Order: sequence, then structure tokens, then C-alpha cells
Amino acid sequence: MSSSLGDVLREDRWGLTAGHFQGFFSPSVIPCFERDFRLSSFNLSVPMPGFFWAVMHWRKNLGCDLERQRALLRELHQLVDRPMRLMVVCGTQNRAILKHGLREKFPRELELVAGPGCSVCVMPAGHIDAFVKIAMQPGVIMAACDDILKVPGSKDSLGSAMKKGARIRSINAPMDALDIARREPEATVVYLAVGFEATAPGVAETILEAASLGIENFCVLPSIRLLPPTIDLLMMDPGLNIRGVLCSDQINTISDTEAYSELARRHNLSCYIAGFDIDDILGGIVSLARQIRNDESVFDDTSSFIYSSADNRKARKMVSEVFFKVDTDWRGLGTIEKSGFVIRDELSLFDATKRFNVRFKEGEESCMCQCNAIISGRELPPDCPAFGMVCTPQTPIGPCMISDEGLCHSYFKYGVQTSSRD
Ligand code: SF4
Repeated sequence: MSSSLGDVLREDRWGLTAGHFQGFFSPSVIPCFERDFRLSSFNLSVPMPGFFWAVMHWRKNLGCDLERQRALLRELHQLVDRPMRLMVVCGTQNRAILKHGLREKFPRELELVAGPGCSVCVMPAGHIDAFVKIAMQPGVIMAACDDILKVPGSKDSLGSAMKKGARIRSINAPMDALDIARREPEATVVYLAVGFEATAPGVAETILEAASLGIENFCVLPSIRLLPPTIDLLMMDPGLNIRGVLCSDQINTISDTEAYSELARRHNLSCYIAGFDIDDILGGIVSLARQIRNDESVFDDTSSFIYSSADNRKARKMVSEVFFKVDTDWRGLGTIEKSGFVIRDELSLFDATKRFNVRFKEGEESCMCQCNAIISGRELPPDCPAFGMVCTPQTPIGPCMISDEGLCHSYFKYGVQTSSRD
């Protein structure tokens, strides 16, 4: 459902988000409370100027955010004078848009679809089958992020393998897996590295650390995918009719900016790299609408500072020392040329695919699930007959409902009902 510009600018609800309340307790605000409490231990009648300062600080920031967001929305309504279809690739950015109720504020002619930017949603069932097979091996401890545990393979998920006795630990960072290997030398610890290119430096650093410390009971099952080749493939479908692509700034820590410039040139696309903050996302969408209106196909990179940083050069060096690109399978999209990383032969001791002789086979996916169409921008969750009926976060059928980053999960959580036919 779309709102008029007048509705957008009048409505107060939209600026009051959890983020603003978090800001109230930010490190810059908390010292004010501490100062007041110290003063009050000497003299209970001392007022709490810090408290009032904190309230004013919060109100001022909230006002600035709202003003900027209102101005961006006003500009967007002026720019969108024709149908514009944009792909928001990243699952976190899609979630932020839904959480802040932005879809309802956008002009009716602006259509947003999702892309393949949720690492769990693009995992083929056949790969889950291979992960389960390794996790069930005697003497193995598998370490993985929480989200992947619930994704179904042909028969089992890693979660159901756990119930059958597999030793699987939920962790947040690759170095946590290396710590487990240090603490449990009798086990072989397999870290399941699921993610996009932004996760590669952390995984590479952990493998190099394991090699330098000689921790031989540690290995990595790499399932790291690269977005530019996949976006390239999707844009070849003329039926998709995407005119602009919004990506997150994490992805280009490793990806070559030239890959995005080339995408823009080749497909007559407008591209924009934005952060996860709602102002950044909104600014990115305005920039895309402006480019389309001016008939420009450019890669608008506001995060170019990332490329000159020494940290980024170091990250890229580590990644190239550890990995090289290969053709990789994506759920619902098939095998895409040079769209994934594998570990170099020199570090094969730390490569779980070699240690366990892993062969990825085609798996069976639920025929009811339309995640494939959702991650490729062809449908929206309410187009799926199972959405909110038999498929909910409590009873998920496909990975788009399982993962917090999945579009079905976000649509359900924030009560959005807009289908691609609306
Ligand atoms: S609602 Fe459920 S079944 Fe439908 S596409 Fe989403 S995850 Fe798959």
C-alpha cells in the first residue's frame, strides 16, 4: 500500500524506533548519569542536570534524523515520476526497510524486490546434506552460526542431526571455533564458514592463525559466496526489468569496485553501496531514483574510503593467500561461474572438503517453497500460498522464513502484506 506525500510528512509514528531508544543509552549519554549519581552521594538535593542534558541530546538527535528522513522522502516523491524497479540485495537492508515501515512511505511507482543477499537463503539442500554427513562423523565437533542449524537438507537439518547425537556448537566468530579446537584436542573441529565475501577475511585470518600455531585438529568447510557474478546473472533476465541495485557496504570490503562499475555499464544499471543505517539506505534509494531519472548507469560509491584503508589492503591480501575463486552452487540459481571461494592447496590440511572427501550432490527442496523466486527478485513473500499460513517463523518451510535475514521472516515479523501484484 502506498501513502501520499502529505501522509508521509504528517505521520509521527515512523521516526520512533528502537534505535532511537538505544541512542538514549549510548556511551556518550551514560556518563551523565554516572556524574549525577556521584554528586548525589554527597548532596541528595543536587538536581540531575546530566539527565536533562541526556534527554535534550536524544531529542535533538531524533529531530535531526527525522528532518533528514523527511527531506529524503520528499525528494524521493519528487524524483519517482515513472515506474522504477529496484533490487535491494542485502537481507539486513531489506529487514531495516520493513522494520521502519519505509515501504508504506515510498511512492506507488517505486517497486522494491529482494536479491540473493541472505547467505542462509541461498544454501542448496544438497550442501546441507553434506554438512550433516560430516557433523555425524565420530570425533567431529562442528562449529556454525545459529541460523544455518535450522535450514533443511533433503532429510535432515544440522539441528535435527544434533538431536541424533551430532556434536554441533553454535558460535559467533571463526576464532571461537579455533578456541574450541585448542580446548578439545581429542576432537576434529570443523568450522562451517557460511557467508558472503565480507566474511572471508575473518575466516582467512583464522586459518592462517591455525597454520602458524600448528593446530591440526581444526579445519574449515568453506561456503563463502561472491555477489557480483550472481547479480550479473540475474540482470541478464530482461523479464526482471531491474533499473537499480542497492548493495551493502560490507560486500565491497573484498569485491573489486570495478566489478560493480562493470555491472552498471553492462546492464545499464544504477548501483549504490550503502550502510545499514536507515538514513544511509534511504539516501541510497534516493540516489538510485535520481540516477534513473537522469538516465545514468553509474556505480555510486559513497564508501570509497574503505578501499584506501590499510586494513582493507591487509584483508584482501589474507583472502588471496588462503582462497581462490571457483564455480559454486546457489539455491534456485544453479552453478554460477567464479562465485565462491575454496581453500588453496598449500593449506589443504585446514580444508574440511579435502579431509572428509566432500562431494556436493543435488538435494531435494520442498516443492511448496518459493524462496528461489524471492531471492531472485521475481516474487515477494505474500505471493507464496504458504506464507503466514503453514509457513511462519515457528513452522518454517524454507530458508527465507528461517533466517532473520530472510525476506519471508522480515515480512511476517513486521506484518507486511504487499505482494508483487499489489
Ligand atoms: S513463505 Fe515459506 S514456503 Fe513460502 S517462500 Fe517463504 S519460506 Fe518458502
